[in-house]
Amino acid sequence: MTRAVRKELVANRTAQSGSEEHSRDGVAPNGVGPADGAGHRSVDPVVVPGDDTEYDAGLRPRHLEEFVGQADLVEHLGIVLEAAQRRRQPVDHLLFAGPPGLGKTSLAGIVAAEMGASLRVTSGPVLARPGDLAALLTDLQEGDVLFIDEIHRLHRSVEEVLYPAMEDAKIDIVIGKGPTARSIRLDLPRFTLVGATTRTGLVAGPLRDRFGFVGRLDLYAPGDLEAIVRRSARILGVRIDVEGARRIAERARGTPRVANRLLRRVRDFTEVRGDGTITGETAVEGLDLFGIDELGLDKVDRAILEALCERFSGRPVGLTTLAQCVGEEPDTIEDAYEPYLLQQGLIHRTPRGRAPTARAWAHIGVPAPEAALF
Ligand code: ADP
Repeated sequence: MTRAVRKELVANRTAQSGSEEHSRDGVAPNGVGPADGAGHRSVDPVVVPGDDTEYDAGLRPRHLEEFVGQADLVEHLGIVLEAAQRRRQPVDHLLFAGPPGLGKTSLAGIVAAEMGASLRVTSGPVLARPGDLAALLTDLQEGDVLFIDEIHRLHRSVEEVLYPAMEDAKIDIVIGKGPTARSIRLDLPRFTLVGATTRTGLVAGPLRDRFGFVGRLDLYAPGDLEAIVRRSARILGVRIDVEGARRIAERARGTPRVANRLLRRVRDFTEVRGDGTITGETAVEGLDLFGIDELGLDKVDRAILEALCERFSGRPVGLTTLAQCVGEEPDTIEDAYEPYLLQQGLIHRTPRGRAPTARAWAHIGVPAPEAALF
C-alpha cells in the first residue's frame, strides 16, 4: 500500500473512532501482548486485562507439547500446523470455541510460536467500526497471526470486512467522504486469523464457514487439571504434594484458569497459616476458607442454586431473571457458570428456563418438594 493511502486510512479511522489515545502502550486481552515479555505485539484498540493477567502470562503454555489435555484437539492442530510448516505457508484460519479459561488464547499464542510468526491480539467488542479492523489488517506483516477474542461479538459491518480478507487476502476501503468518496481494493499479506468464542452458535454462518479448522475445547478432566496445577506450581516455585494438587484440581471446575487461581490462593494460605508447603490437608482448609466447596462451587454458583431451589421452588427460571437474582450479567451466567453446573448435573435447561436437579437440592441441603423432582 502506498504511504499516502495508509495515511489517509489511519486519518479516516481516527476521525471515525474519535480518539487515538488508547494506542500502543496498553496490554492486550488476557496478557498476550507486550506485558508478557514474549515479544507479541498488541494492537489497537487495546483491552484492559483482568486481574489474573500478569500471573496467567507466565503460566501460559508456549508450545503445543506444553499444552495439557484436549488430546484430540492437540493432535488435529499439530497436524494442521505441521502441514502448513512443510508447505511453508501460513496456517489456515482457526476458530477455537469453549467456555472462558480453557486455553483459547494460549492456543493462539502457540500457533504463532510454532509458526515462528508474530501474534497480534484484539477482541470483537473493541473493534467498533470497519475502519478499526481495516487499519489493523493493513498493518499486518506476511505470516502474522491475528487473534480476535470474543469473535461472536464483532459488529456485522466489521465482520463484513473480514470476509474478503479471510478468503482472498483483500480488503475494500472507502477513502474520503460524500461525493468524492472512492473505493479501492488492496492486497493484504497472507495471515492467519485465529478466532475465539465462548458460543459457536452466535458466530454467523458465513464467518464460521471461512475458518479452515474449528476446535472445540471441553472442560478438563481432574487428571489433566492436576497436571496443570503441578506444572504451574513448578513455574511459580510453590512446594505442593500429590494430594495437594489433587484437591485443588478437584475444585477447579474443569478450568485451568480457575486451577491456577486456586493454586495462588492456597499458596497464600499455606504461607500465612502453614509452612508454605501445600498438602491435601492445607489445600482443603484453604479452599474452604476462600468459600470454594467440595464440588468447586463458589458464592455465585451457590447463589444460583439457592435462587433456583429456594426462591423459585424448583420452577424453571428465565436467564435474565436468574441473573438479576444473583447480581450478574446474563452472559456471565451463561458463559462462565452454567457450563460447569450443567456438567455437574446440578441444573438442567428446559424450554421454559433453568431448573435445579435432585443433586442441586441435595447439595444445598434443602429437601426438594415432591413436585420439583423428576
Ligand atoms: P481462554 O482464552 O480460553 O479464556 P486462556 O488461554 O487465557 O483461556 O487460559 C487461561 C490460563 O489457563 C492460561 O494463562 C494458562 O495458564 C492456563 N491454561 C489454559 N489451558 C491450559 C493447558 N491446556 N495447559 C496448561 N495451562 C493452561
